[in-house]
Amino acid sequence: MTTIYHMAAAADWQAALQSGSYAGTPDDQRDGFLHFSTKLQVAESARKHRAGRTDLVLLTVRAEALGEALKWEPARGGQLFPHLYGPLRAADVARAESLPLGPDGLHEFPWDKPTPGVFPTRLTDGYRSFLDGRFTGEQARYEMLARAGQRPEIMVIGCVDSRVSPEVIFDAAPGELMVVRNVANIVPKYEPEAEGSRSQHGTSAALEFGVQALRVKHIVVLGHALCGGIRAFADDNEPLSPGDFIGKWMAQIAPAAEKLGPQGKKNFDAYLRQLEFASVELSLQNLMTFPCVRILAEKGQLALHGAYFGVATGMLLVRDAVTGKFEPVTGAVPGRMPLRPAGS
Ligand SMILES: [Zn+2]
Repeated sequence: MTTIYHMAAAADWQAALQSGSYAGTPDDQRDGFLHFSTKLQVAESARKHRAGRTDLVLLTVRAEALGEALKWEPARGGQLFPHLYGPLRAADVARAESLPLGPDGLHEFPWDKPTPGVFPTRLTDGYRSFLDGRFTGEQARYEMLARAGQRPEIMVIGCVDSRVSPEVIFDAAPGELMVVRNVANIVPKYEPEAEGSRSQHGTSAALEFGVQALRVKHIVVLGHALCGGIRAFADDNEPLSPGDFIGKWMAQIAPAAEKLGPQGKKNFDAYLRQLEFASVELSLQNLMTFPCVRILAEKGQLALHGAYFGVATGMLLVRDAVTGKFEPVTGAVPGRMPLRPAGS
């Protein structure tokens, strides 16, 4: 589901409600299409084209509802913007809400401030889309999984990063992947008795469940490019909070950094990439410190893998078990089109 936005003059929108159809702003009429923006683009569109206007209504539209008349075309700075060729039916507008100016004189979008007690509309919209689409196709599978229980064969240890969702990257159906995510996809060492580590056993508990109860056959440690956790370790910044939870958690990758050696003259970004790979390697070693993992791996009943997702490129690299090198799982990423910006 892609959500797109248009800022209409309140009077024009009122007229559209009467007639059932909205013809756009004078600029839209001059250009021959209605200008829309994604959520990431709309604040800048407001600053550039609607500054100071107090009569605006923000229209929220599901891009899919507009069909072929909606084209994604390069505009400002080469970004793709949604352009609607033809009028907008009022019935296709999911929401229309006034767009006030904030104290700083800039428009205040509905998502700028959370409303306490109000569940995010992004989630209710997304859930509706799931019910109408994916759930319909997979209802039988859900029912079967509820009856028979889950039996995923693959466990993925991934990062909390919102761009690196294992179920999305591996196109997984419900029940196929057991996923545990933490900051920087780290597997801690097996430390059942270690002092002060009582609060760091979330991943170990998930491993115990995946390996001992679900009997997964594969464990994949999925690293990724541009990892904020790895950067936090390499940067010498102040902790984000007095608890310094990220600092303490990320300190676990110190052995990987030591093995890599100092950054020296290396470009910082290149050093971060190396550390991302080294950290996956360390997590694979740490996996083998868990007796349940080691025993099953040695018996050939459990296989451990390292992988790395390129985010911007969509490229997946997989660690070669013999050479330890990360190699592309396919050749070029097929059919790469200019990326459509996420709608919301
Ligand atoms: Zn990350």
